[in-house]
Amino acid sequence: MSSTARKIAYLGLGIMGAPMARHLAAAGHVLTVYNRTPAKADAWVAAYGGTTAPTPAAAAAGADVVIACVGADADLEAVTLGPDGAFAAMMHGTLFIDHTTVSAAIARRLAVEGDARGLYVVDAPVSGGQAGAENGKLTIMVGGSEAAFAAAEPVMSAYAQRIGHMGPAGSGQLTKMVNQLCIAGVLQGLAEGMALGMKSGLDMDAVVDVISKGAAQSWQMDNRARTMSRGEFDFGFAVDWMRKDLGLALDEARRLGVPLPMGALVDQFYADVQAVGGARQDTSSLIRRLVR
Ligand code: NAP
Repeated sequence: MSSTARKIAYLGLGIMGAPMARHLAAAGHVLTVYNRTPAKADAWVAAYGGTTAPTPAAAAAGADVVIACVGADADLEAVTLGPDGAFAAMMHGTLFIDHTTVSAAIARRLAVEGDARGLYVVDAPVSGGQAGAENGKLTIMVGGSEAAFAAAEPVMSAYAQRIGHMGPAGSGQLTKMVNQLCIAGVLQGLAEGMALGMKSGLDMDAVVDVISKGAAQSWQMDNRARTMSRGEFDFGFAVDWMRKDLGLALDEARRLGVPLPMGALVDQFYADVQAVGGARQDTSSLIRRLVR
């Protein structure tokens, strides 16, 4: 083990967690992985080495760093503070990094629980999608103390192209809410533009080639417009997750008294997509409401 290699427990080997853990193993860290469905952890270890653990607590015991990337607030609470959760097993001075997109409230609560146990805790939601995780080029928005950020940054650099310290606990999650609202509006605009172009018989590859070089350019246009026009949605960032994220933003906005009419509307449009079987499809499936 090199002097910078750490003992890392990784909790949650989903679409995002599995490739992030792979980059950590490739960087020389020693991994113990936990996944609720054990077969995924077995397959990960067979491919990349390390060991599996049957519970979050067993994975966290003896680790220098514990990282989670699970689903929503209740899932994060289960793997940290629940029975067999990681926090009770973590040693004084251990670093906890959460990559799940959750509420600012649970991020602040974990920071308080961590403080009481002498842990360093950061909320560190990510942007860049499955491709960003696979390529090690995620953008990471971090909340937490200066000391916790300083400890987490070199570990996360194994799979990030940009890491920002946004402020105290919860600030990473608040930044992610801003990120998701910006994406939702762009995607609805893109869906409407593509729908009009397709109905009018334009060659949409040619249209995207031209307008993506002008002011309409966006990540969503570069990465999703062509698959939208072909009706391909079985990849990427799930509609269920986007509804969760818009729900977090709408809750926070209600608390702060900020009107978010576009976010609320697009959230309801995604409910339509869920109703026609699109819950696990990529968020670009918003166009399914407009082009059938
Ligand atoms: P995913 O593929 O569904 O993976 C979720 C992981 O969490 C799985 O390992 C799952 O275990 C585990 N999990 C869920 N609930 C659990 C619980 N109660 N206890 C223990 N483990 C639990 O999801 P993902 O796409 O990787 O997303 C993970 C997080 O990253 C979400 O918060 C999402 O919003 C966020 N995110 C995703 C993307 C993206 O493009 N996919 C981009 C940015 C942020 P099982 O294998 O047993 O189901």
